[in-house]
Amino acid sequence: MSQKKPSNFVLIGRSGSGKGSQAELLKKHFGNLVHINSGSLFRDLAEIDSDMGKRIRKVMEEGGLPFDDIAITLWMYEIAYKIKEDQGILADGFPRRLNESEALDRFLGFLDRKENTFIILIDVSRQEAFDRLTKRRICKECGQLIPWVGEFKNLKVCDKCSGELITRVDDKPEAINSRLDYYENRVVKSIKYYQDQGRLIKINGEQSIEDVFKDILKAIE
Ligand SMILES: [Zn+2]
Repeated sequence: MSQKKPSNFVLIGRSGSGKGSQAELLKKHFGNLVHINSGSLFRDLAEIDSDMGKRIRKVMEEGGLPFDDIAITLWMYEIAYKIKEDQGILADGFPRRLNESEALDRFLGFLDRKENTFIILIDVSRQEAFDRLTKRRICKECGQLIPWVGEFKNLKVCDKCSGELITRVDDKPEAINSRLDYYENRVVKSIKYYQDQGRLIKINGEQSIEDVFKDILKAIE
């Protein structure tokens, strides 16, 4: 058995489940995690003046889905080129489809990382996710995003600068619903794949950010 490599984390959950907040807390806690986020990989690619870059930009502007293998290509490239031996992978927004989960497993297996990869589902209901995405607020003064979760729901003014809080819905309800549909149609299959192998760690996401994080730490100990 080779020397044990750092732990890796795969965060799965609906839009609005709070994956991003948990990723930040995990990074702080472990110190050696490299956060890879699907959204920024796609945004970076869309800036590139390649045939693929231009195609992805078009898909992002006009809607629609990029072809099946592109997320796998981007992720495997990131892992292959950027993850050092003493660093852990913190995967946010990937894998989302069954074929992506299988591809990631093959990669992790080759790197002797599969055993120490934690697959964490931050579980929130569809209604909760919808509410969070449509009711979250932003500070008019400093731009801080106030999630629609736990005690933040009671804030009357910004807790950093006392600025006025306004609701800012970036996405139309239809766009939010189509993201939530995607989860139902695709991501659920990927979740089942991990569940069938007994590898899924399911965390109740409908509690405060701190309590979700506490539950994650408890589950991986
Ligand atoms: Zn503020």
